[in-house]
Amino acid sequence: MSCGIHYLASVFMAVTPKFVCSIPGNMENGEIWELNQCSRSRREGSLDLAYEYNGNKSVFSCSHGYIYDHTKWTSTIVTEWDLVCKREWLAKLTQPTFMLGVLIGAVIFGDIADRMGRRHIMWFTSIGQFLFGIVVAFTFDYYSFVVARFLLAMVSSGYLVVVFVYVTEYVGIKVRTWASMHVHAFFALGVMVVALVGFLVRTWWVYQIFLSITTLPFVLCCWMLPETPFWLLSVGRYEEAQKVINIMARWNKVSTPCKISELCSIQQDALVSSRTGDNDVSTTKKHNILDLFCNRYIARRTITVWLIWFTGSLGYYVFSLSSVNLGGNEYLNLFLIGVVELPSYVIACIGMDKLGRRNTLIPSLISSALICVLIMLIPQDFNALIILANMAGKFTIGVAFGLIYLYTAELYPTIVRSLAVGSGSMMCRVGSVVAPFCVYLTSIWIFMPLSMSKPRIAVIGAGLIGLSAAVCISETIPTCSVTIISDEFTPNTTSDVAAGMLIPHTYPGTPIYQQKQWFKETFDYLFAINNSSEAPSAGISLVSGWQIFKTSSSAELPFWSDIVLGFRAMTEMELKKFPQYRFGQAFTTLKCDCPSYLLWLEKRLKGNGGEVHAKRIANLWDLQNNYDIVVNCTGIGSRQLIGDLKIYPVRGQVLKVHAPWLNHFIRDGDGLSYIYPGIHNVTLGGTREKGSWNLSPDPNISKDIFDKCCALEPSLQKAQDIKVRVGLRPSRLAVRLQKEILVQGEKKLPVVHNYGHGSGGFSMHWGTAKEAARLVGECIATLQDSLSKAKL
Ligand code: FAD
Repeated sequence: MSCGIHYLASVFMAVTPKFVCSIPGNMENGEIWELNQCSRSRREGSLDLAYEYNGNKSVFSCSHGYIYDHTKWTSTIVTEWDLVCKREWLAKLTQPTFMLGVLIGAVIFGDIADRMGRRHIMWFTSIGQFLFGIVVAFTFDYYSFVVARFLLAMVSSGYLVVVFVYVTEYVGIKVRTWASMHVHAFFALGVMVVALVGFLVRTWWVYQIFLSITTLPFVLCCWMLPETPFWLLSVGRYEEAQKVINIMARWNKVSTPCKISELCSIQQDALVSSRTGDNDVSTTKKHNILDLFCNRYIARRTITVWLIWFTGSLGYYVFSLSSVNLGGNEYLNLFLIGVVELPSYVIACIGMDKLGRRNTLIPSLISSALICVLIMLIPQDFNALIILANMAGKFTIGVAFGLIYLYTAELYPTIVRSLAVGSGSMMCRVGSVVAPFCVYLTSIWIFMPLSMSKPRIAVIGAGLIGLSAAVCISETIPTCSVTIISDEFTPNTTSDVAAGMLIPHTYPGTPIYQQKQWFKETFDYLFAINNSSEAPSAGISLVSGWQIFKTSSSAELPFWSDIVLGFRAMTEMELKKFPQYRFGQAFTTLKCDCPSYLLWLEKRLKGNGGEVHAKRIANLWDLQNNYDIVVNCTGIGSRQLIGDLKIYPVRGQVLKVHAPWLNHFIRDGDGLSYIYPGIHNVTLGGTREKGSWNLSPDPNISKDIFDKCCALEPSLQKAQDIKVRVGLRPSRLAVRLQKEILVQGEKKLPVVHNYGHGSGGFSMHWGTAKEAARLVGECIATLQDSLSKAKL
């Protein structure tokens, strides 16, 4: 009973109540904070108290701890040591580490009990169980808690093993089945005690003290128990064995107890005959685990038995531990899970006697498997049915688990019997270590009928940002389906107009460290493509050149100077090529040629199973029926689509010319004149007209661009095949890269925004795509969490 108590105690001790990030201690000037579970964000420059807020936010970690809902549990180890968010795995490890202690304890104490006797080990482990139980309640941090529980698990499992041996050694073969079932039944009573104490005490350490105190009567009683005569005989303590046998005879009202001396003389005779060759005991071989695989049949039997041990224990603990998550009253659920075990042992005993071991075991295993399947199929609203199925599962697995002990002992000959039982119980412990992880699986893979078989992601926009986000999502979250929906495709997007050079422009509203990270991720990604055989088809090339300034040197290096290759000040010799300029920087960077790069991304997306649809979206909510998550990459289109007035066009006109002899870029530091050679053409630029929506080419601007570029590189006079292109840079103070939940009545649609890359889309696209994919991953987790919670 005390073992049942400690084995299941964690179900209420390590509960995670509802929680949110705590507010900072020094809130000033009416700051407005949004509190999430694992982060908090401050609304920037706004006193908007509306629930949904689309403006700028600064996100912070939960450095001031968390606020927990104390309505159900005053304190648990989770609230005590903040085992949430990044530390959540520590809470999840408490039960597996306990079960590991159980595994090790069984091995150690089983062996010591054979050497030192059952009684001493029972004393030691029961006292240890009480003391470590109390110590757990007074641990000061998570790690000491885990260590104390590990030691508690070791002594508890030692206690259970020795008690089992003790009971079976004290009863005759006739009643051994029922006696061993009693041990199991009292374990189940322990589970019921946990439910009761959990219901009455809601502070984890007080709860632990109460549970430990309930084990005290066993500690006080066990010193009265005598040693078993079997063990006394095995170590040659005949007189003591005789005394115990006499007491047993008196209790059983047998007038002539069996004489140890007579037993010994039989043994002596056997020894003598063995020496004369009748039965050569002296050469009896020592047996090891390999004997359980000595031939095909025994090996098959051993593997089957091990699997049953593993399954039995896995099922037993999964049904028990998950009972508190079934909805309804968790205390009652756990109590009932303990109650159903009792009839299962009665049925196991009757079945074993009347039908035989095999005929009882097979139906119980098959029906528990079927019940597991059934649980997946029961709709979430049928709460009572789910609880009932769980109880039925526990009942059937209880029958199998209860009888496998005895069945194993009977399936093997005496010489390897204890080895078989011992190895089987090792597999059983492995099952119990794995079981808690299976219970946690519900938060990763939700049950079949509820699961979004594949989360459906719609990416709106087929420009550079939409395509790269779609590819990145399909590669980082391969379990989802990705569809691009767009009204324009390459070669008709803004991205097709761009020069595609990796030279960042600073976004005033985005922290520099963030921009640097995005640029680095993009540069590294494209550099890897450049160094692969994909480079020509992807349109990626390395290009060296100069950025020149009419003013003298600025001491401040651009934030990206250590990401591009070989960044340095230009030499006097180099500057002589540009007489009007006084200072310059030389470096090597990457260039993407469009439409090659966009086509390559699209091909890659389709290779990952992604789809592409041509359609204009007038309202994001229209996608709610067919998609689980929407990623908005509509660039300047966001102004109309979602009414974001913070995004504005910066018109850019460029010339695309044929001048294959040029292989160095030249960029005026003001960003208005540039010559960017790529694989297929050279881009000459350009203009920056803020707020202009005019997409028609202006011949005067074209002439101006051409003249300026020829001044920088006179050989351009011979350029051929000159084409004019105009694009609207989707500009914003900061790139909008954030989640938003659209709500209409009961329905919700998570949206991840990824737009507003202005003049630097190519320089940042892969970094922002990665961040968008991460946000999509968060949305999927939230959706699955709410689905599984709805179910549980
Ligand atoms: P877009 O390419 O415009 O894609 C938006 C997509 O959304 C389109 O497919 C559109 O059809 C779709 N869409 C919009 N609304 C809807 C709707 N309602 N329904 C369905 N679909 C919709 N950046 C650099 O880093 N380096 C450079 O050298 C560089 N040079 C540039 C030169 C010029 C002249 C210009 C104009 C830009 C330059 N840029 C450069 C910036 C870069 O081109 C942009 O930042 C980038 O292309 C933006 O990509 P996007 O996918 O957000 O927008």
